[in-house]
Amino acid sequence: MKDLKHFFPFSNKASNLIYFDSSATSLKVQEVIDAEMKFLSENGSNPYAIDYKKGFEAFELIKQARSLSKTFINANKIEEIVFTSGATHSINLLANGLRNNLKKNDEILLTELEHSANLLPWIAIANKTGAKIKKIALNHDFTINIESLKQMLNNKTKIVTFASVSNTIGALNDIKLITEVIKEFNNDIIVHVDAAQAIGHIKTDVQAWNIDFMSWSAHKMYGPFGVGCLYGKYDLLNTLEPIFYGGRMSLKIEENLVDYTLASIPEKLEAGTPNISGIVGYIAALNFINKIDLHEIEKHELELKEYFVKRVKETNLEDFITFYNLDVKSPIILFNVNGVNPQDITNYLDDKFNISVRGGASCARRIEGVINTKIAVRASFGIHNNKVEIDKLVEALKTVNNFLDVLF
Ligand code: PMP
Repeated sequence: MKDLKHFFPFSNKASNLIYFDSSATSLKVQEVIDAEMKFLSENGSNPYAIDYKKGFEAFELIKQARSLSKTFINANKIEEIVFTSGATHSINLLANGLRNNLKKNDEILLTELEHSANLLPWIAIANKTGAKIKKIALNHDFTINIESLKQMLNNKTKIVTFASVSNTIGALNDIKLITEVIKEFNNDIIVHVDAAQAIGHIKTDVQAWNIDFMSWSAHKMYGPFGVGCLYGKYDLLNTLEPIFYGGRMSLKIEENLVDYTLASIPEKLEAGTPNISGIVGYIAALNFINKIDLHEIEKHELELKEYFVKRVKETNLEDFITFYNLDVKSPIILFNVNGVNPQDITNYLDDKFNISVRGGASCARRIEGVINTKIAVRASFGIHNNKVEIDKLVEALKTVNNFLDVLF
């Protein structure tokens, strides 16, 4: 296993802190911080002020970020990449952008494992349009059940939206197969993938998967906060109604102040000044991932998961801890210490061991429909982690028994 810790200033400086919350946000690499600082200190112009050199440079950086993103996900055209503030914004843009395509009794299919960001925008738009939300059944490994999906598809199905990797259980869906089943039934059904958890960890190929839309956030791929993207197949993306109106997205506004002509995509969906310094950091994040290589990232994280599982078995942690997803091949662990509130466990691990993990529903509000509990502790590993830290987590979990003695 390669040592990748030194890329992360957090890990270097705060070396006594063990960060196991990469699912919430990944730590930031030095290159990203430097790139953003450099832009802010040496340029700082509005990317649409192309009348002068610095503004033009900033404008070119946006083009560069779009082009890198296109290659990263294997999109067909750079216009298929829309900059947003993150996955939440992207999904809201998509759901609301489709508002004129949805009517009463149309069906939107999704799973109960979805993050609120891939649940609430659809519920809200369904409530407004009279469309209906339907739940796709899951397999034992928490992936989408293909037979259930096949049975649910009908002439009212308009959209199928699901996470490639869920943020709680870490279930990894076979996107290509799912899309094949949907498109074979009806090519017009829109397939959206919430890639927030996956994009910085496993290879994305929107053309091989044949998906119509995809959403992600830069901050979960070692990049800055406040930047994300919506990918859409050109013709479909072009049909979305904007949710924001403002500068740069119109070609003309008529004197009657009624009629206007919008620019084409992606500008049509990117009203206002973008987060250019964030986008510069995002370029550095993409370059970083390309440098390390996604296969290396995936390998490193899976090795950590496998090592954790091995240590759990050796130390009999399963005697007093319920693990929900040890078999799932992604670097997320979800568990509950029998009879103890997850928030007490997270506080305990933080106070006594400087270990950062999460407790609660992790924004998957319907998870109880899947694993029979509303809340759990989540530890998620990243490439800055190593086996020594996993050992420390296991040692800390062993003491949870004592913690119970202290409490009761
Ligand atoms: N979807 C999933 C699966 C996520 O894990 C997250 C972030 N936790 C989001 C969507 C939303 O991302 P953001 O908060 O960056 O908009």
